[in-house]
Amino acid sequence: MAKLGRELRAKGIDVIDLSLGEPDFDTPDHIKAAGKQAIDENYSHYTPVPGYPDLRAAVCTKLKRDNNLDYKPEEIITSTGAKQSLFNAVFALVDKGDEVVIPTPYWVTYSEIVKMAEGVVKLVRTSFENRYKITPAQLEEALTDKTKLFMFSSPSNPTGSVYSKEEIYALAEVFRKYPQVYIISDEIYEYINYGIGHTSIAEIPDLKHRVILINGLSKGYAMTGYRLGYMAADAEIVKACEKIQGQVTSGTCSITQRAAITALTADLKPTMDMVKAFEKRKNKIIALMSEIKGLKLMEPDGAFYVFPVVKSLFGKSANGTVIHNSDDLCMYLLNTAHVSTVSGAAFGEPDCIRLSYATGEDKIVEAVARIKKAIEALQ
Ligand code: PLP
Repeated sequence: MAKLGRELRAKGIDVIDLSLGEPDFDTPDHIKAAGKQAIDENYSHYTPVPGYPDLRAAVCTKLKRDNNLDYKPEEIITSTGAKQSLFNAVFALVDKGDEVVIPTPYWVTYSEIVKMAEGVVKLVRTSFENRYKITPAQLEEALTDKTKLFMFSSPSNPTGSVYSKEEIYALAEVFRKYPQVYIISDEIYEYINYGIGHTSIAEIPDLKHRVILINGLSKGYAMTGYRLGYMAADAEIVKACEKIQGQVTSGTCSITQRAAITALTADLKPTMDMVKAFEKRKNKIIALMSEIKGLKLMEPDGAFYVFPVVKSLFGKSANGTVIHNSDDLCMYLLNTAHVSTVSGAAFGEPDCIRLSYATGEDKIVEAVARIKKAIEALQ
């Protein structure tokens, strides 16, 4: 959608992009300064595959400070983004035919990586009524003796749902019955949380050794282009990931790593200022979108997306364009309202579309006004 939007923009059409999954803010100055200093100090050589020792130590410091988790540096590996950390984890753990349980809606990369590893993807559809979170009963039904891995994110992309402490602990009860199952906990949106508070399943002592905690700097520090993700896991898993990464990319960018040490250990005020701005935009977009008839909205608890149910619009049409599904709706909104969004089908939930509010408030106001007009024109 972003690509199609750019094509329309190249033709002179004013397209508002609500399709992107990245903060529109600049990287905070103190982090940029650390990157510049790294260049001046000639951090220009190959880096250790899992990252500089002081970066791995900085990740441990962060995990203790924010999550009260005790990890040793040998239980940390940094990568070229959380995406690579996820890839490493799946390739280290999943053999051909192993089942991997993923609640939907989900970030599509999860299932694609599992398929690349020849694992068997088992999707579990969650409901609007349960705020798109898997219930312990659903988890119990999905796990079998063949399950190797469970993958989820909290806060979630695309729904913005956040699992509460109670919900995480309730899922843990089920995992206890399946001791062979590993859990990938993708916490990349950790800081972008509007009140529920962040709980990592790794904080549960008897499960910690089977949790692969994934996080990174892209979302919380507005550093998508720097490419820094990390994993905290059992040392044996980390070692396996190091072997894989050593044959693919080696250690991530030296300058990024130096900047990351500052990001991870400095005061979080710039991050929290961004989160405040996201929350203000979230309130705005929810208020505006709740005036559009035909949408079912869930107010998100985190991340920077809204994920309305648009099913009631299916079968309607305007000027000969029939909306059969969420893909059609996104194309219609792009071509008619000149707003790019993403079809829920891309996240395994075909009744919805995803709108990102990681963009300026004036653009949000204009985009939602255009969407409203386009939806009201549907008969
Ligand atoms: N996990 C989720 C849920 C995401 O939405 C994204 C990026 O969109 C990532 C991981 C990847 O982040 P990174 O930029 O660190 O590779």
